[in-house]
Amino acid sequence: MIPKDHPRYRSLMVRERLSQCAKEGIVALEGLAAHGRGEAFDYLLGERTTPSALQAARTAAALLLTADRAVISVNGNTAALATAEVGALARASGAAVEVNLFHRTEERIRRITALLEEHGVDVLTGTPERLIPLSHDRAWCLPEGIGSADVVLVPLEDGDRCAALRAMGKQVITIDLNPLSRTARTATLTIVDELTRALPNITAACSELDSGTAARLAGSLDNAYLLRAAIEEIQERLDHALD
Ligand code: ATP
Ligand code: MG
Repeated sequence: MIPKDHPRYRSLMVRERLSQCAKEGIVALEGLAAHGRGEAFDYLLGERTTPSALQAARTAAALLLTADRAVISVNGNTAALATAEVGALARASGAAVEVNLFHRTEERIRRITALLEEHGVDVLTGTPERLIPLSHDRAWCLPEGIGSADVVLVPLEDGDRCAALRAMGKQVITIDLNPLSRTARTATLTIVDELTRALPNITAACSELDSGTAARLAGSLDNAYLLRAAIEEIQERLDHALD
């Protein structure tokens, strides 16, 4: 039992949830390491949504709303941490949901799909093909999902695969606490924020944006500016860390 008055209560609860999901075969063991890296950057950001992250989330809503075919790609960590938030965003944006794994096994795909469906999320099904220009199992996706999407939201993506999706001509939106990662720098749009804070911000923006504002936000997208702003937020906090 984690005591409720522990100063790191939320973080400890999330770790417990992830380790439980790892035991159930939903989260890959590598996903636990990825989470740790994310936590470190969240500490540096002050565990809050920065103004530039909110602007990025609103821009993400604009890209999803103006897409011909948007897909939210769900991996093990995303399913474990944010099933309900993924469902809410899919409903608000009209995006489809595809389970797509870096460490892919049919068993994990089944378990993650079941978890999403238990929460009322419609999950794309079909016969996957090796459409992403990468070797091994990282290439698989659904032709009627990521394969034909023009906009893909991939929270917690790997840099290599993000680049491959970009090479396919897709607009890639990612959520990544590390503004220096290859993913953050390769994506069309990076939201430097924690997954469970970022997803509801995108969902809220989907309901708020009118089509004129959405078109303006999508048109003025500048990811390098957003990443620089995130790094400046960290710099600012470090400058005053011991005050
Ligand atoms: P890259 O391949 O992009 O250079 P990496 O290899 O350092 O990055 P990965 O292990 O591929 O990192 O992916 C994990 C990424 O996800 C990390 O950058 C981490 O900061 C981020 N991350 C982990 N958990 C969360 C979370 N809950 N919310 C947002 N980002 C997260
Ligand atoms: Mg990586």
